[in-house]
Amino acid sequence: MENQFRQYPLEEDILGALDALGYTQPTEIQAAVIPSILNGRDIIAKSKTGSGKTAAFAIPICNFADWEQNTAQALVLEPTRELAFQVKDELYAIGRFKRLKVPVLYGGFPMEKQILTLKQKTHIVVGTPGRVLDHCKRGTLDLSKVRYVVIDEADLMLDMGFIEDVKNILMHLEGKPVFMLFSATMGERLEALAAQFMHEPLEVKIENDTETADTIEQVGYFVDEDEKKLPLFLDILTMENPDNAMVFCGTREMVEVLYYRLRKEGIACGMLHGMIDQKVRTRTIEDFRAQGFRILIATDVAARGVDFQNITHVFNYDLPTNKEVYVHRIGRTGRAGETGRAVSLIREDEQKMLNSIESFTGVGLAILKPPAAEDVENARSAFLKRQRQKRPRKKKKQDVFGGQIMNLTIGGGKKSKLRSGDVVGAISSIDGVDGKTDIGAIDIRESITYVEILNGKGALVLEELPKRTMKGKYRKGSQTRERIGTIIKVRHSN
Ligand code: AMP
Repeated sequence: MENQFRQYPLEEDILGALDALGYTQPTEIQAAVIPSILNGRDIIAKSKTGSGKTAAFAIPICNFADWEQNTAQALVLEPTRELAFQVKDELYAIGRFKRLKVPVLYGGFPMEKQILTLKQKTHIVVGTPGRVLDHCKRGTLDLSKVRYVVIDEADLMLDMGFIEDVKNILMHLEGKPVFMLFSATMGERLEALAAQFMHEPLEVKIENDTETADTIEQVGYFVDEDEKKLPLFLDILTMENPDNAMVFCGTREMVEVLYYRLRKEGIACGMLHGMIDQKVRTRTIEDFRAQGFRILIATDVAARGVDFQNITHVFNYDLPTNKEVYVHRIGRTGRAGETGRAVSLIREDEQKMLNSIESFTGVGLAILKPPAAEDVENARSAFLKRQRQKRPRKKKKQDVFGGQIMNLTIGGGKKSKLRSGDVVGAISSIDGVDGKTDIGAIDIRESITYVEILNGKGALVLEELPKRTMKGKYRKGSQTRERIGTIIKVRHSN
């Protein structure tokens, strides 16, 4: 069947990447906004994670980006570093065949290294507001050519106190870029922001916030004493024996208690909360996505906006204190026509919250009796077996392009005055290599250069390159295991 994205006037490079990613049919939000963005209309979209909202703006932005330009043509603002990287990955994947460069700017990371990255070709900048503003003020980020601006997770930006920074950044823009604002909720302050910067935006609302998919089975267990909660949870978890689960706790401490308790049993699990080092958080997210473990324990804030697929169970170890949060949490499961289970532990004093959730969603939770000790005992060995077992790792989104792309390291870099033109020149002089389509991202460091070779031409380049000179010297190339984005990340985090 023909890829449904062909109905839009998109470049072949973009359509090819969508094919490779397996995006064959636009999601609701994509169908609603892509044509408008392509026509240059501002948009305000109310839509949550899992709806495909990232690709909804990433597809038109990547389509629009012109490789020849050297400074940023689009700016995407994200409230957290995790989201910034998640969105960068999507832009990078969709822009793969256009060889788009997508640097990520975030706080807590050496400024000088980001400045060096920004001095190289930059097509789309993704960043957190504080650091982006910092670069604007120092004059190290040129926004004069930006034609598309995305303010993502705008309500979270507001909650985190970033709105003034966002406004200040927008003041640095020239001309009239296309503005896109994505938010789970809208309020006065966001409306005022939109009124100040946007021109007759198309307003799109995708999901009714009270809507819980009918593919999600919602059950609850009452627990009368706090001490009984943890053993009850472990019994329920044993009985449910989930394939992929998220467990939400109200506090960081509880996340840690559960994590260490499960680890003590040899159960593979991961945890996310605000006090965990960012590098470790990123690794946990990647590991969970790759199916390295089945149970992720998290606080709401740490897991907000982060996209995970194939979640079979959501556990509310602690009931949220807000009914909307309940809907967001359980919406992690039962997606794409799959069934899911949402299991909540409810303290007696939370009855009011339960009532409020039930009237908000219009669905009553089936209240179950605690599992019988004998049943738990019988289920235990199957539970431990599955939860301790290693699964084959799932491919990362970017790796769907694998095989087709080889990453090379070339001796020589800025010190020997190597420029990307020299690299492109030498590689495209090889018979059978097309400089326009077969060379991916190039990253020139002090004395080393990384370059991606696309379309399965890597082996040919590896063989032929040493026979050619760059800046008057023969240079050795070797294959690198990591992809360029990863290399940059690893090097940056030193
Ligand atoms: P998001 O709401 O942007 O976090 O996206 C949720 C997930 O849907 C991501 O893992 C995307 O890779 C995936 N996705 C986005 N658009 C499509 C599409 N048209 N077809 C299939 N998957 C998609």
